[in-house]
Amino acid sequence: MNFSSRVGAACSALCLCLLAPAQTSILGFTSASAAHQSEIEAKFKSIPDPNQERRQHRIFTAEPHLAGSKRNHELANYIAAEWRKQGLDDVVIRRYDVYGTNPKSASLEMVAPTRYKALLRELPIPGDPDSKNPAISRAWLGMSISGEVTAPLVYAHSGNPEDYQLLRNNGISVQGKIVLVRYSNPYSYRGFKALTAQREGAAAILIYSDPAEDGYKQGKVVPDGPWGPEYHIQRGAITYDFLVPGDPVTPGWASVPGAKRIPIEDAISAPKIMALPLSWHDAKPLLESLDGPLAPENWQGGLPLPYHFGGERVKVHLKIEMDNGTQPYYVVEGRIRGAELPDEWVVLGNHRDAWVFGGVDPSSGTASMMEMTRGLGELVKQGTRPRRTLVICSWDGEEVGLTGSTEWGEQFVDELRSKAVAYVNVDEATSGSNFHGQAIGALAPMLVETTRTLPDPSGKSLHDAWKESAARTRVSAPQSTKIDDTNLVDTRIGSGSDHTVFLNFVGMPVIGLGFEGDYGVYHSAYDDFYWMNHFGDPGYRYHVLMSQLWGVTALRLANADLLPFDFAAYARNIRAFVDELSTGKDMRQLDLNGVRKEIDDFEAAGKSLDESMTGKLGAGNIDAKLATEINHGIMRVERNWLNPDGIPGRPWFKHILYGARFTYAHLELPGLTEAVEKQDWTTAKQQAEILERALETNTKLLEQLRAHLDR
Ligand SMILES: [Zn+2]
Repeated sequence: MNFSSRVGAACSALCLCLLAPAQTSILGFTSASAAHQSEIEAKFKSIPDPNQERRQHRIFTAEPHLAGSKRNHELANYIAAEWRKQGLDDVVIRRYDVYGTNPKSASLEMVAPTRYKALLRELPIPGDPDSKNPAISRAWLGMSISGEVTAPLVYAHSGNPEDYQLLRNNGISVQGKIVLVRYSNPYSYRGFKALTAQREGAAAILIYSDPAEDGYKQGKVVPDGPWGPEYHIQRGAITYDFLVPGDPVTPGWASVPGAKRIPIEDAISAPKIMALPLSWHDAKPLLESLDGPLAPENWQGGLPLPYHFGGERVKVHLKIEMDNGTQPYYVVEGRIRGAELPDEWVVLGNHRDAWVFGGVDPSSGTASMMEMTRGLGELVKQGTRPRRTLVICSWDGEEVGLTGSTEWGEQFVDELRSKAVAYVNVDEATSGSNFHGQAIGALAPMLVETTRTLPDPSGKSLHDAWKESAARTRVSAPQSTKIDDTNLVDTRIGSGSDHTVFLNFVGMPVIGLGFEGDYGVYHSAYDDFYWMNHFGDPGYRYHVLMSQLWGVTALRLANADLLPFDFAAYARNIRAFVDELSTGKDMRQLDLNGVRKEIDDFEAAGKSLDESMTGKLGAGNIDAKLATEINHGIMRVERNWLNPDGIPGRPWFKHILYGARFTYAHLELPGLTEAVEKQDWTTAKQQAEILERALETNTKLLEQLRAHLDR
């Protein structure tokens, strides 16, 4: 539904809003249900508490809790026990046996022209007792292979294909050599850097954090500011999960105990290269010694030295030993059974595993989840159940390859396709105060509306605070565009978190929520309780706001009379994707007029259904059976964007509107866009036809729903 056509502007005399400022207009609700809903929301919003958020955050950040570790299993048991106390139903822990990747040992030494033995660990910070914890891991990257090599070192900038091209232009080959690359800004997934180095024939890749990206060139460093200090190491996985996420040896099916497994040599998402991350403390002696031509201006970094290409003089010895035994991952699943429509599910999730303490990533999200579930459980204890079922999950192994959520999604794909309304993901709940809301186009208006009813710690509504920060950060719209309610939500959804399986494999609408700020300690040991209490969210007010927002979003999806999807808005989004695809590109004979016509029809059908829904909601009472039929139809729309064959070359990724590049960056109309970029016009034409057919199917579906509603 559109904002211009909201329901129930007037309020009847009997309405409770004479007593309390109840809201009588909520997308998808009749005015009576909206009044009831706003009472529920008011009760719910009063529950999350900053002291409780802090208490939970401390529990999750007390020790390192890596995917598959003993501590992460203990935390799974803790969550399950808390959820039972909080009043959640059917709490279970699901086990997946996955291909393991744990470090046994790693060493790196420069052997020529001088000797330098890399420290490969993060030194304690005065004032932060957690930074002294002996359980903090040394430098390592998940899914590196084991091996030993002594070879010349080459600096390859960000490690993108064009960087290697520039090296070639300068007569430098990386074949058999070790490449040293930087984490880059804007963010590019390190797995793509590893794959690129592997394709270039490098023997190994070292990835370091340059101070220009997340260190002193950005601002004050820990312990005086939020940026990364000299010794911080960005761990992470290099899994090629942009090809297929989850356990590499069970691509497309769940790693339940006893599942069929393919040999690791045949797993396309398993890297075949040695990889290690470095702090700039360890990278500096290597960079200082490099010879060869001076690298160009844009390759220079934040260290006070000239960056050279290298290639001959500097030799390093690298040795990595990994433990690849099968290990168990644990997903905690709880639910609040719906009072009226138990077989319609709103799924909520956050990952639990962290590279070290996970102050921001993910424990801020986990703390927010625990306070959200406490609030939802409280409502149940007071006799208020949602109409639909809420399914709440704590994922394991997100950091390794989006693994826990992927295996769970693959296990329950059929049930999810018939029951799921949407998935709402929170990964990093807060590293600052700038809200970033993501949603598929059809859910953008309901997300905007939801933020209007929540108070931001700045004193404004979350909606107004979001609008201001969006104008500063420009995440959701280009510089030239005015930020308004139609472009506030970021509707370009890439990969890199647990929404991936639900959107791209199951075909579920998704929403992603997070508060962001200056954050230079990502995946390092300094992303911890101290950091959160000094920089990220010292008063835990944004944690509270996240618990409220996440819960209210879930309750609106769970309680709506008619599901609050705006398909005309979705159509406008898809049109923008097509416009962007065709702008400034040589489209040759590819005719997208058919696609454009189908988008127009889909928009008209969406608008017309919206008018009917608005009319019915405005009239105040909808037959329950009719509402269920309409809602089930609405739930089919997202499934219809799936192509069973997947996008060309990546069959696991089935959504034809949303995909991700190998860098995790968003990629709209993935099959079509990649074909156009390759100038493969045969495939482009096929992909355009697939898009046309899906639009046509959904237009027909919306028209049928409207006819049914108007009968
Ligand atoms: Zn995360």
